[in-house]
Amino acid sequence: MKILLNNQMLYEAIGSLNSIGFVPTMGGIHKGHISLINKSKKNCKKTLVSIFINPKQFNNKNDFKKYPSNINKDLYLLKKTNKVDFVYIPEFKDIYKSKRKSEITIKKKDKILCAKFRKGHFEGVLDVMDKLTKLIKPNQIFMGEKDYQQLYLVKRFIEKKYKTKIITCKTIRAKNKYALSSRNFLLNKIKLNKAGKIAKLLINFKRNLIKKENIQQILSSKKLEIKKKYDVKIEYLEARREKDLSITNNIKKSRIFIAYYLDKVRLIDNF
Ligand code: AMP
Repeated sequence: MKILLNNQMLYEAIGSLNSIGFVPTMGGIHKGHISLINKSKKNCKKTLVSIFINPKQFNNKNDFKKYPSNINKDLYLLKKTNKVDFVYIPEFKDIYKSKRKSEITIKKKDKILCAKFRKGHFEGVLDVMDKLTKLIKPNQIFMGEKDYQQLYLVKRFIEKKYKTKIITCKTIRAKNKYALSSRNFLLNKIKLNKAGKIAKLLINFKRNLIKKENIQQILSSKKLEIKKKYDVKIEYLEARREKDLSITNNIKKSRIFIAYYLDKVRLIDNF
């Protein structure tokens, strides 16, 4: 496993390769990331993992400062897989020429879910994915359904501009059903238990929606129930179609999306 600390090292290592699987991360490596690496290893000759906490996608300075980072532990976990050929850990200047905001914009109709609550977030995500794709020229990029809206927007953007394919990977959950996430490192056991209970509740809730119509009303009362029962602040709880994220009244080929705060930690999930 070669560690590439700048673009010179990156070019020298991967310049002549033609089957690269790319797993972009912000570090805080967990089994969700590892599942993406496993899929890359199956599909591609070489696997490159990046660790870059992209400041341009944080709409909140504190969130950026607090973002869990432990590079030595990450490198240990990546090496242990025996499946990673390269870890690219760029500095800001390897990715960006200036600190200015992203010039990429997203359409009004896409300003839903997280895009509505985190101004500039996806513009920052698309910008960094554009830069990384240009630098690495991967055949495939592996991304998780855990961040479904990100996957949807990045897939549309990257596949239109490059030959690179975005490969969708299932959400990996803990035993008690909360989705694995780097942000979970900021939560204690009691809080994670609560996240597990909310996840279980929503998994069952979705099952029970199958025969129902006009689910928007049912969602509103479920939102209130979760708020009261678990004392969490919910940003959104919505049902949307998988193919275009439009609002739906029928749960078929749709997902339930949630964003909520456990203490000051913002979690997202979908079912
Ligand atoms: P992050 O480091 O949080 O930016 O995530 C890097 C990639 O890992 C993204 O494509 C995420 O969607 C994916 N990912 C994060 N958590 C999970 C999970 N629990 N299961 C599957 N993929 C995940």
